Amino acid sequence: MANPVLPSSGMLSPLGLDSVRLAPGFWGDRAALNRDVTIAHCQEWMEREGWIGNFRGQRPRRGREFSDSEIYKLLEGMAWADHPALPELAETVGRAQEGDGYLNTRWSGNRYTDFEWGHELYCYGHLIQAGVARLRMHGEDRLTEIAVRAADHVCRRFMDTTETCGHPVIEMALVELYRATGAERYLEMARRFVERRGLPALGDIPFGRAYFQDDVPARQAQVFRGHVVRALYLASGVVDVAVETGDQELLKSVEAQWERTLARRTHLTGGMGSRHADESYGEDFELPPDRAYNETCASIASIMLAHRLLLATGDARYADVAERTMYNTLATGVALDGRSFFYANPLHVRVAAEPPQGVNHAAEGSLRSQWFDVSCCPNNIARTLASLGAYVAAADPGGVRIHHHTPAEIRHGDLALRVETGYPWTGGVTVRVLEDGAGTVSLRVPSWASGATLSHGSGPAREVAPGYAAAEGPWKAGDEIRLELPMAPRWTFPDRRVDALRGCAAVERGPIVYCAESVGDEPPLAHLTVRVSSPPAEAAPAQAGPAEDDVDHGPAGGEAVELEVAAVHAAPSGNGWPYGPDPDHATGGTDTALRLVPYHRWGNRGPATMRVWLPIAE
Ligand SMILES: [Zn+2]
Repeated sequence: MANPVLPSSGMLSPLGLDSVRLAPGFWGDRAALNRDVTIAHCQEWMEREGWIGNFRGQRPRRGREFSDSEIYKLLEGMAWADHPALPELAETVGRAQEGDGYLNTRWSGNRYTDFEWGHELYCYGHLIQAGVARLRMHGEDRLTEIAVRAADHVCRRFMDTTETCGHPVIEMALVELYRATGAERYLEMARRFVERRGLPALGDIPFGRAYFQDDVPARQAQVFRGHVVRALYLASGVVDVAVETGDQELLKSVEAQWERTLARRTHLTGGMGSRHADESYGEDFELPPDRAYNETCASIASIMLAHRLLLATGDARYADVAERTMYNTLATGVALDGRSFFYANPLHVRVAAEPPQGVNHAAEGSLRSQWFDVSCCPNNIARTLASLGAYVAAADPGGVRIHHHTPAEIRHGDLALRVETGYPWTGGVTVRVLEDGAGTVSLRVPSWASGATLSHGSGPAREVAPGYAAAEGPWKAGDEIRLELPMAPRWTFPDRRVDALRGCAAVERGPIVYCAESVGDEPPLAHLTVRVSSPPAEAAPAQAGPAEDDVDHGPAGGEAVELEVAAVHAAPSGNGWPYGPDPDHATGGTDTALRLVPYHRWGNRGPATMRVWLPIAE
């Protein structure tokens, strides 16, 4: 089964890339662009920056201490995409592996001297994930051999110590290798890495031990905290260990942490991370739109975790959050041409900066960069888009559940289905039965979709509640199941405890979060307030429509929808002092219409300012 996550038990069994084939549409177009453009882009940059040369023994070594992991993430992407460049790159990597399986271009000769920041086990984690991907897509070869030798080295070296890595990922990688090979030592090693963390297992650092989740053991933690990618990679590994060892207490602990994090530490886009200094969560309800960090990798980690919890529990809420994050942060992280990337994904950008030329050293900025000093995000996008088909649907005992509505062909057991839809731009989803068969076909109804209807056969359309709407077979070739999701744009208001967002509203339509964007001589956003008394409306298509190769303009994917809201351009107030006793001095101005674009499309038209949360005029 060609799947990045393949639990041996749980409410749902995922369907892999061999069962789900993406067709042209929102995600199919992005997966194709990823395979044709982004993967080669990443390889070229890592060759240019010398990170691949490190494996050839180049001196001096180049790149950060964890740059090996970037090559491994790309190898994983190549494995899922069945990319022809994989064998040669794997061969290059293998040249640096030592006789006992040790492999690291930074720490060779000085092994395991810095667990807090060295990232050696982290690098193995990504290598092992690449090896598992290759094993499942292709079978044993050079890459799987390198990964297994490294994993065996890790088990020998760490099984009976108290050590662990400052950056989790080895945990979920080892569980997946156990699932792929049946060798129990990998599961046991992962379990021990999970259990020893928080005892504590690492030294103290200036950010504090919560930064790398070594403050309390995973099973006692209340909320995700510290460095977001670390927290979510660890939680993914904890779920994997809990599922494979039947540890319900451990699984419940992660579910509870997820609930609280979702309720208090998650941005509207699904992004997580409120602080730049340590790329971390903030306190509860600390969700500033302009200082939001929302690293692209954190979104990917959040999708990975939500997917695991979905498979374990069957609860549609996890798919809802994965969808929100996929459309509004994963899709934002890469430009429409597949060649530049966001690292941080704030919800408000005040200054339209010039695009960085070449390598972005700060990992921030108001335009996507071709490459970063720390280029975790581009390679993470590459491996995620290459395996995205595996997130779309799952099997349950009665049939198939479709989590994500996107054009695809799905085959499982007796069921052969084709999903046809212009979602997320249109709300109609047609599932066409391709061959006679039996089984239940369940379609996810997102939490925002009240009033959704489902119909099939000669029966009338019936209203279906958020969750999964089931249609029962038996089926004849040519039968259709039709889900209609209401797509009226809507105002969204924040919990009042989110102090940074008081007095603001945002606009959503379906799963898409919108933003105001100002490019060039378009009106500045800084002085705008919006009237929420009237609903947002669909705007006339922009004069210059999307280009032919725009990924939001696929033949089946519909066309990106833009919106318009009533706004007020504020009149100046104050006389050299912007404060005063009269509350009305802050109101008034000229009525105008404000055009909104899907958040994931912002920053594709040149230097821009942007905001998702808009101050309310009334
Ligand atoms: Zn990243």
